[in-house]
Amino acid sequence: MEGTMKVCVMTGARKMEWTEREIPQPKKGELQIKLEYVGVCGSDLHFYDEGRLANWVPEGPLVLGHEPGGIVTAIGDGVEGFAVGDKVAIEPGVPCGQCEDCLNGHYNLCKHVKFMAIPKEKDGVFSEYCTHEASMCFKLPENVDTMEGALMEPLAVGMHACELSNAKIGETAIVLGCGCIGLVTIMSLRARGVSEIYAVDIMDKRLEKAKEIGATRVFNSKTEDIVEFAKTLPGGGADQVYECAGNRFTTLQTCKLIKRAGKVTLVGVSPEPILELDIATLNAMEGTIYSVYRYRNLYPTAISAVASGAIPLKKIVSHVYDFKDCIEAVDYSLNHKDEVIKSVVKF
Ligand SMILES: [Zn+2]
Ligand SMILES: [Zn+2]
Repeated sequence: MEGTMKVCVMTGARKMEWTEREIPQPKKGELQIKLEYVGVCGSDLHFYDEGRLANWVPEGPLVLGHEPGGIVTAIGDGVEGFAVGDKVAIEPGVPCGQCEDCLNGHYNLCKHVKFMAIPKEKDGVFSEYCTHEASMCFKLPENVDTMEGALMEPLAVGMHACELSNAKIGETAIVLGCGCIGLVTIMSLRARGVSEIYAVDIMDKRLEKAKEIGATRVFNSKTEDIVEFAKTLPGGGADQVYECAGNRFTTLQTCKLIKRAGKVTLVGVSPEPILELDIATLNAMEGTIYSVYRYRNLYPTAISAVASGAIPLKKIVSHVYDFKDCIEAVDYSLNHKDEVIKSVVKF
């Protein structure tokens, strides 16, 4: 496709506007994709709210959106295995493929990665079309649609957390925070055969959803104390604890929730960079802490898991907005966190 397209750009804190741009043409090794669905992520909300995300500060307009699903509309030179009309999920980070981290397989840690909607890396996909490295695009099977394709991105985060910590059949897990990432973590745990999953949040709507997708029991921490509950579990705690809320209180709670030799996985990132963790408790338990940065090598597995029915991925979606209402999608999601679990933009 050639011509111009509509693009929604962030120009500052709480400022998004519409612009027209040339439709990008695929270079060697790239695909051109017409977007069909893009998920609205917590990091998009942070950017919109504060005009920046941690140390990432845009110097000019930035296109947000990094959870894309779409249809191939043109194919660059040297690309094999794709045809115009293919449905694809797009992995938003393009690593260099050459550095030590890439060669060791943990390309999510590549220092030269170009990730969508990150300043100085790559624009996001709140736009009608994009181009992307074909090697980071994944064909969707017949029974997986492009909305699910878009949601592969957050799912990959949850799956990566469960792989790092090697959550196993028969184990018990506590998940702190039931936003999008908490929910995909619960789905991944369930698909791996973890038998008891205890989900914690302060918003009832999220807890209802956690229950619906497979949590064994849910706890509203405004009225129930998960630390007291964990003491009643066999061994005095869970095998696995996942912090998915990204806040100080829950991060500090994690070490009190594991049983001996249990594992803590920090999936969310607390806005305060330095916290006083209870290392003595952790040490006495011989606990392990994992930290999670995005994901790697997971899109094919994530797509198969959804295709097989093991992961009911669409259930996390609470709001769907037309692309013309993209600004409202972001604004509403930011200001109604008690109500919005996951928004997606539909093109
Ligand atoms: Zn995301
Ligand atoms: Zn690299």
